[in-house]
Amino acid sequence: MEQIKKFLATNKNAKISTIHDELLNMIAAELNKKSAQKSSTSRRDENGDVTEIFCYFHKVWENVNVHAYGSKKGSNTGMNTMCKRGVRGWTETQKHIKLLDGKLIEEISSGKLDIKNLQLAKAERIVKIKSEMMIKHK
Ligand SMILES: [Zn+2]
Repeated sequence: MEQIKKFLATNKNAKISTIHDELLNMIAAELNKKSAQKSSTSRRDENGDVTEIFCYFHKVWENVNVHAYGSKKGSNTGMNTMCKRGVRGWTETQKHIKLLDGKLIEEISSGKLDIKNLQLAKAERIVKIKSEMMIKHK
């Protein structure tokens, strides 16, 4: 914004047609910067550099200079959506969730679990796995 104000001030007496293209480019750049800043899962400094990411695994804001983040092409920040520890935790969580179905089927066939409680049991177990993994990979 400052850049645009300065540009307009120095071109106060210029004809619109002579500054039109340059001004449009500056406005477009400014809008891009704004939309990048608005992203709900990352924060940037005034230069547009990413300072914090809302870690998909840990569900907290993490300073990218403190927490290691892998790079990810095509993402809004150029970095992964979770820190490296989070990636390990997330991978292990998915592994446990995959094994869960097998366990629940076993419990149903052995009579330990009533099939009508399956959905609830599964949901509860997933919450438990997620919180255990969150503690383990804190
Ligand atoms: Zn994290």
